Formats: sequence, structure tokens, C-alpha cells
Amino acid sequence: MSGHGAAWGGRYVGRFAPSPTGPLHAGSLVAALASWLDARAHRGRWLVRIEDVDTPRCVPGADELILQQLATCGLAPDEPPLWQSTRGALYQRALDQLVAQGDAYPCACSRKDIEDAQAALGHARERHAALPYPGTCRHGLQGRTARSWRFNVTDFQKKQPLAQEGQALAAINSIANQPIHWQDRRLGPQQQEVASAVGDFVLRRADGLWAYQLAVVVDDADQGVTDVVRGEDLADNTPRQILLQRALGAASPRYLHTPLVCGDNGEKLSKQNGARALDLADPLQALADAARVLGLPPPSGMHNPCISDALTLWVAAWGRNYNGAP
Ligand code: GLU
Repeated sequence: MSGHGAAWGGRYVGRFAPSPTGPLHAGSLVAALASWLDARAHRGRWLVRIEDVDTPRCVPGADELILQQLATCGLAPDEPPLWQSTRGALYQRALDQLVAQGDAYPCACSRKDIEDAQAALGHARERHAALPYPGTCRHGLQGRTARSWRFNVTDFQKKQPLAQEGQALAAINSIANQPIHWQDRRLGPQQQEVASAVGDFVLRRADGLWAYQLAVVVDDADQGVTDVVRGEDLADNTPRQILLQRALGAASPRYLHTPLVCGDNGEKLSKQNGARALDLADPLQALADAARVLGLPPPSGMHNPCISDALTLWVAAWGRNYNGAP
């Protein structure tokens, strides 16, 4: 067990958290297999959480299909799965806490308002690049009607201990832009200036739905998750989640972001760009493809391997490849 692992008292809880927007594809199996292997390599527990908060994007039946696909691959959770759609009361309690602490505020801006404010600041949108929220409602709605709730990144960072040691205002203001640092177990040291990269981000959307950032942080904390293992496309969400963990007084898990699988067009496989559902006629082959992406050996050296033999081989190889495993 690594030094950090020992800080958790040897207790390990991992999770796979698919959004039920379609069946698993080759890319999501990589994340599922990696989180399962990491939990097994640490002799920990592995949970499955169905992230169905963004209801307009959910596909009826996709949750059950995903659970079936996991079972076919020998990846069974150690506890009954949990559905985020049943946990609104918990998210509301967290939002109430943030509002009471002054860390969240109501926002009246529509998408158009935000684009106009960004344009007025001279910010031009680059292709695919999201611009940070310009902070229009941070200090009041000015008579407009609240639509969503946002996390007050700038003011929260100014409240951090570093900002309070009798520093001049200019220094405190610059602390609002301090990068959040974290250590990714595969990618190494990472950092992001949340205030300038994304700005005050949404916790509850204008349509009343809970935002992924809040739901994921509340659930990881509530379920005692010590290790988040997920696709690299989510890596840049991590600093927002670390800020929310700090604001809610929750411990930050360790993070490991796994390689992405690209389609023939070189773009990351995703349900949005039409990735095909996993072909589970041969689950061992699907697993072997996922294992290869993770740098794990093929099970072909084994005599007539079954899924559980291959998984045992990969648990041992995983422990050798990724730090923090026994
Ligand atoms: N539900 C997210 C997704 O499917 C993953 C969330 C996470 O692992 O933090 O993209």
C-alpha cells in the first residue's frame, strides 16, 4: 500500500459512474475495467453509480443494459448500484450549506446574456472552447429573476487560509486566480486556474436539474469513495470538484484518469459521436481490447483462459503498472 493509501487506513472504495445515455462502448469499458482492477488490486470495494441527473440525455433502459453488460464482463459491484435521480434531497442539502456559507449564489443569466457579457469583455469564443462565466450575478441579481445556482469560485478562493494571513488586497485578489493543483496517478502533477478557465460554475441548472459537478462530489463523499478512476476526458473537471470538496468539508479522493479510445476519425469514442455499443458476443475479447488500452498484457499466453482467469492476470499486472497498488 502506498503512503497515500495508508492515509486512508488501508480502506479503499472505488466506483464506476456511467451516465445512462446509451449502452457501454469500447471507451467506457476501459474506465469500468480500470476502476474495477484498481479496487481489486487494493483489495477494496467497487461501487457502481448510475449518473442519471441529466434526465433529458438519459435513454430509458440504458441503466439496466449497462449493468447487464458489466455483469457479462465479470464486473459485478460489491453493493447494489445507486441511482443519482433518487438523491435530490442530499444535493439540496449540500446546496443549502454552500448558500449559507456564501459559497453559492443565484444567477439570472441566460446563455445569451453570458455570451453578450463575454463579448463586451472582448472575449471571442474559439471553436469548441467554453469561455468562463463573467461573474455578472456574483454580487446580486439587480432585480432579475434567479434561474440557476453557481459556485462562487473567486470569493471562495479568497477565503482560503493562504489568503488570510494579513495580505494586501492585491495579493488576496491574485489568490482568487491561484491554480488548483492535484496529483493524477497516471498523468502526474496537474493544475488549473478555475476562476479564469471556467469561472463560477453551475450547481443547479436553470431547468432545475442538478449539475454533474455537485452530484458527483456529494455522492463520492457520501459513499466514502477514496479513489476515482475514470476517463481522461473528465480530468479537467477535477479542480472544480476539489474546490467543492473543500467548500463542503469533504476529503478529496485520489484520481487516476485512464487513456481514451479513439474512433477511426481520430476523435474520442463517445455516445455523442455515435460510438457503437460493445459487442459482447465475445466478452473476453472486449475486455482484452480494453486491457490493451491500459497497457495490460493479452490473455493469449494463458491456456484456454476464461474471463475470471484474465481478470486475475490483469489485477496482478495492474498492481505493477500503476503506483499506489500493493
Ligand atoms: N457520469 C460521468 C460520465 O459518464 C462520469 C462521472 C465520473 O466518473 O466522475 O461521463
